Amino acid sequence: MSKILPKQNCYFCKVINGEGDPFVFENRSFTGIFDTNPVNPGHALIIPRRHVASIFNLNETEHADYFDAISGVKRVIETTDMRALYQEMLSRPAQQDRPKDSIETVLQLPFLDNRPDAYTIGNNDGREAGRSIDHLHVILLPRYSGDVESPSGGIRNVIPGRAHYQRS
Ligand SMILES: [Zn+2]
Repeated sequence: MSKILPKQNCYFCKVINGEGDPFVFENRSFTGIFDTNPVNPGHALIIPRRHVASIFNLNETEHADYFDAISGVKRVIETTDMRALYQEMLSRPAQQDRPKDSIETVLQLPFLDNRPDAYTIGNNDGREAGRSIDHLHVILLPRYSGDVESPSGGIRNVIPGRAHYQRS
């Protein structure tokens, strides 16, 4: 395996080098971390070790390791005590200068101790799709019964107002 040069000032390259949030999963091509701004308990990110912005630029080795990473991080999510995770996250030194509201919010959710009922999986592949850091991070978002009023349409809701459709 060739040495990977981290890109300067890229937060996810720092993570890969062990200088950011601790990883909870790793294989040959990817690492997994829990997002410190969780939108739901267990919100995780799958990050290629190589600094690559788009899922369409993954190489053959990364393709081969991708589903192992998705499944591996799912296993970690389902065997992690979420209450303990977020309490520990709040106490991390790195967390002291960051906003804590998302962590405090998930700690209050009534389904915090439940096993996920479903998952939303995806990435914002490009600035226009909402990407904020140009290093691929695939989102593995556990979903829980009742986490939104109506889950109908799912990821279609990224275009507000055009999510609902009638099946013919
Ligand atoms: Zn990077």
